[in-house]
Amino acid sequence: MQVLFTAEQLKKRVLELGKQISQDYATTNPVLVCLLKGSVVFLADLMRAIPVPHTVEFLRVSSYGSKTVSSGRVEITDFDADLTGRHVLVIEDIVDTGSTLGYIREYLLGQKPASLRVCALLDKPTARVSGVAIDYFGFTAPDVFVVGYGMDWDERFRHLPYVGIPESQDSA
Ligand code: 5GP
Ligand code: MG
Repeated sequence: MQVLFTAEQLKKRVLELGKQISQDYATTNPVLVCLLKGSVVFLADLMRAIPVPHTVEFLRVSSYGSKTVSSGRVEITDFDADLTGRHVLVIEDIVDTGSTLGYIREYLLGQKPASLRVCALLDKPTARVSGVAIDYFGFTAPDVFVVGYGMDWDERFRHLPYVGIPESQDSA
């Protein structure tokens, strides 16, 4: 496993993002909508870096199956939160082609939120096919498959405290 972003780097950057978000949403009680499962570690750290009032919701989305290439298919299951008139901040682990985010944006906009922004830990701009805006992001990532800090390879590696590049499924 090659380390791409250390736990210390992630911690520092998440604190910075939390500070920025707290300033921008100081009085609006935003709702952070966390995309499961990959964003859960990021959310847990980020919400503790946002001292202003906010709520959280979870949205189960799958687009990758067990493969490491984007299938372009996205499914949303069991989302029953009422976002009408709320200031929504989508929390995403990594934006690759952007198709997942594009689909989710349309879905959430259908709920008539007061505003909708996106916060992604990692941005892989070279793989982008869908022109979605990322309002807050932690780091730019190279166009390689990464794991750790919530992100998996076939459900493995989510527990790693850093973001890394697995060498192969066997040796990683
Ligand atoms: P997109 O629709 O932007 O191509 O893919 C977005 C989703 O695919 C992300 O939410 C993430 O769950 C997954 N994904 C994209 N790139 C990576 C990666 O490098 N590693 C892992 N573990 N998941 C990724
Ligand atoms: Mg994701």
